[in-house]
Amino acid sequence: MSNTTIPRDKDPMGQAIAEFHKKGRAGKLRVLSSMFYEDEIPVPTLFRSFDEMPPQEQEAVKLCRGRVLDVGAGSGCHSIELAKRGLQVTAIDISELSVEVMKERGIDARIINFFDETFCEKFDTILLAMNGIGIVGKTENLAAFFKSAKRLLADGGQILLDSSDIRYVFMNDDGSMDIDLAAGYYGEVDYKMRYRNTTGEPFDWLYIDFDTLSMYAEEHGFECEKCLDGEHYDYLARLIVKK
Ligand code: SAH
Repeated sequence: MSNTTIPRDKDPMGQAIAEFHKKGRAGKLRVLSSMFYEDEIPVPTLFRSFDEMPPQEQEAVKLCRGRVLDVGAGSGCHSIELAKRGLQVTAIDISELSVEVMKERGIDARIINFFDETFCEKFDTILLAMNGIGIVGKTENLAAFFKSAKRLLADGGQILLDSSDIRYVFMNDDGSMDIDLAAGYYGEVDYKMRYRNTTGEPFDWLYIDFDTLSMYAEEHGFECEKCLDGEHYDYLARLIVKK
């Protein structure tokens, strides 16, 4: 897990990003899951400007300070905005294609897996935008997440992340919930992407509600604060190492 990267021929999202970057348009980026109906990520949204970002991402951008690590940066939309604001930004992603696009867009971008223990530079802000904490996959991997975060955070550094409580997906009209408590945390989702003729490997993606995040944060020596509630069960959180 810790040093996996995605080669270009197995990378639907990277291919969509590369095509949009080159041509200004792209095909359908499909998202498949055993838990949901087929969905689509509109590729232009991966290139959103500050004004097009949802409030929790705009707030995250405003709260960034010092040297910033943009984790799972995709097309680099947040990195570009942060650089515009005069911050020093490094973007990492496991997608070779996305990193190539980010480099062409003038970003200090590198093919690095967040969990790779050989990556140990220091940052004042670690940004995980668009449910970037999803890279954890399952709650059992949160320990590894906090370990990497500690390694990468400078003294007094912060983590900024947005996520959602996806309980509404399982909620019935009467407010009761169809959740199998034995099956693990309900925010653990499996996804697979498809772009043109390329289908990627399936991967686990975690959505985590604020209380569950706070509980794990506490357990791993972090203080967790909610900065903003979004419009649909989503939120922005800020985490710092407990003194
Ligand atoms: N932050 C971007 C893109 C989000 S999509 C935006 O807001 O638009 C999530 C990205 O995380 C993808 O580009 C994927 O390749 C990358 N990713 C997944 N696992 C990763 C990991 N372990 N380390 C770094 N990047 C990862």
